[in-house]
Amino acid sequence: MTYTDEEICTQFGEDPHSYQGAVSPPIYQTSLFTFRNFKEFTEAQKLERKNYVYSRGVNPTVNILEKKLAALEKGEECKCFSSGMGAISAVFFTLLNSGDHVVLINNIYGPTTQLIDYLSKFNISYSFVDHHLTNFHEMIQDNTKMIYVESPGTMLMKVVNLQEITQLAKAKGIITAIDNTWSTPIFQKPLTLGFDLSIHSLTKYIGGHSDVVGGAVVGNYDLVDEIFQYGYQLNGAVLGAHDSYLINRGLRTLPIRLKQHQENALKVIDYLSTKREIARIYHPSLEEKENPFLKNQMKGYSGLLSFELKGANFESVSRFIDALTLFKIGVSWGGYESLVNSPVKGDNEQQLIESGISPGLIRLSIGLEGAELQINDLEKAFQQLK
Ligand code: PLP
Repeated sequence: MTYTDEEICTQFGEDPHSYQGAVSPPIYQTSLFTFRNFKEFTEAQKLERKNYVYSRGVNPTVNILEKKLAALEKGEECKCFSSGMGAISAVFFTLLNSGDHVVLINNIYGPTTQLIDYLSKFNISYSFVDHHLTNFHEMIQDNTKMIYVESPGTMLMKVVNLQEITQLAKAKGIITAIDNTWSTPIFQKPLTLGFDLSIHSLTKYIGGHSDVVGGAVVGNYDLVDEIFQYGYQLNGAVLGAHDSYLINRGLRTLPIRLKQHQENALKVIDYLSTKREIARIYHPSLEEKENPFLKNQMKGYSGLLSFELKGANFESVSRFIDALTLFKIGVSWGGYESLVNSPVKGDNEQQLIESGISPGLIRLSIGLEGAELQINDLEKAFQQLK
């Protein structure tokens, strides 16, 4: 049976008649589950992945969210975590061994890069490949165990040809994992393009309301089961029932919210394209010609974008950002609210230039307030620059 994404987000995995017909599933706020007799208890403990024993295992409220996310990604299984980083570290800790090598492709989220670097103390090494996949083949070593990708990235929003990666990885028996947070499974389903694991920070679009932190890993039964046993149960980054309820509530409106984020972002991009103060805008919608593979890879684009102010420095970036009122200054992205941020800190310009990032880079998370209000706010900031 196939379900539409909208059906999955609104109904899939729910069974109101098993909880008094409640249309909104209960929050099973419990740390443990009790049993009628000792034999039942002992049997349940033998397979914690499938039985409700302890909430650092499976919990019915979390389970509903996991069923939906697995179905959206067209994967067999999902495990949720208390943060995106909890999910990412569980994948690394479980699947990498001493002596393994990892290939990282594109601009990977800073803490993920820090984590893989930290794992050098366990004799795990890594190499970077840029989004054009220059030197991709040469970077693969005999001990390469995993290829870890972000597409789009979240600073310059660069995309990578996912099928090119999975073809080579499959031929060499290498595990492929992607951080799919930017697109969500509504706009991109990497498992259908051959990826083994799709990872999410649920804190962004999927939660969607900037009131909860969470993460998830989706893949085939065996891989997720291994991650469940080790990276999840032993590291213990457990997503609570209440947070799962909030994320599940966010998920119900994900398709319609993303459509609106996209519509607003495309209008803001049209407006930004008219500005002579801007050297370059970064969003995958602007790079379809150079990346014909996007037609099969992505169904739409979310609202995270960045642009470079010409000849800017910390002072002019600050002046621009401080003039905004609708766009709030803050980390993270993917919520209902518009946000602004910049990697420029006043003492890292040279470092940014060396990593290919302009010291005039400003990142916008385009929220749901409407393009007209967003453009008016940005216009005020451009006036301030003059
Ligand atoms: N992946 C990406 C692309 C992110 O932007 C973030 C957070 O900003 C994470 C993972 C980590 O997620 P969390 O903050 O939920 O741990």
